[in-house]
Amino acid sequence: MRRPITASTRIAGVVGHPVRHSLSPAIHNAWIEAAGLDAVYLAFAPRPEGFGALAEGFRGGVVAGLNVTIPFKEEALALADRASPAARAIGAANVLVFGEDGAIEADNTDGAGLMVALAKAGFQGGAEQGHAVVLGAGGAARSAVTALLAVGAARCALVNRTLDRARAIAGGDPRVSVHGWSEAAAALQGAAVIVNATSLGMTGQAPLELDLDPAPTSAVVMDMVYRPLQTDLLKRARDRGHPIADGLDMLIAQAGPSFTRFFDAPVPDGVDVRALCVAELGARA
Ligand code: NAP
Repeated sequence: MRRPITASTRIAGVVGHPVRHSLSPAIHNAWIEAAGLDAVYLAFAPRPEGFGALAEGFRGGVVAGLNVTIPFKEEALALADRASPAARAIGAANVLVFGEDGAIEADNTDGAGLMVALAKAGFQGGAEQGHAVVLGAGGAARSAVTALLAVGAARCALVNRTLDRARAIAGGDPRVSVHGWSEAAAALQGAAVIVNATSLGMTGQAPLELDLDPAPTSAVVMDMVYRPLQTDLLKRARDRGHPIADGLDMLIAQAGPSFTRFFDAPVPDGVDVRALCVAELGARA
């Protein structure tokens, strides 16, 4: 049962704009309850220009930490005093930890979450497996490219509408090639893993029109979009016999390390947060 909230209850939360759609409160509060912690996890939606003031006001541990989502991830990194190598490499933070000494630490767990979801589907990384294809060139794509190269993908083909954004991620790295959508079919040939890191296919967005036929059916197909959970891309991939990974597994995996940082406690065993999130998604559909 949930413990009563008192003056000593530890607070953490998610910050974004909008944030009402976030599944993070459901995930963290389920873990808090199962672990019997004197803690609560909330959602904050400051005005877009108000994020800096909100975060500055939390210095000193007023809240223990924040998960950060669109559109504040870059600003979160910029205002932190210290940043993990992952946050620096990606150029954005999805976790802020507010130390009692007044310092703000930034981290980025999106890439680690992606790799957990891919590993569940059988992708371990390594140059021998083949190249990676990442669709998109926003923050999610940047975290995917960074994580995939870190686990040894020999090459990463980046496909995006706006080539300059993709070039900015590649940054001249010879392992990363940049392509428009007209070159997607060629990029898919021989791929070991295909990651949708665009918002295409999300409820209310344009569909993701990608013909998977050029890709080998051994390629793991991952969709970061989890609203709907079974995207059109994942349905078509499953029908062709690809191993698939969904965005919900990534979301849950990226949440774990932040829970431990915020509440000084391991993620409790035996909580089916995936089922909880699936129910929430169903309820909100
Ligand atoms: P972002 O910075 O806004 O990037 C959006 C990407 O989608 C860009 O590459 C953009 O292309 C592309 N795009 C959007 N509309 C398009 C259209 N009509 N035609 C062609 N391309 C289009 O977003 P982000 O932060 O990287 O996030 C991307 C997705 O990943 C979102 O759906 C987000 O929810 C998801 N995500 C999931 C997790 C998870 O844990 N599952 C974590 C992080 C992100 P241009 O560059 O050409 O505009």
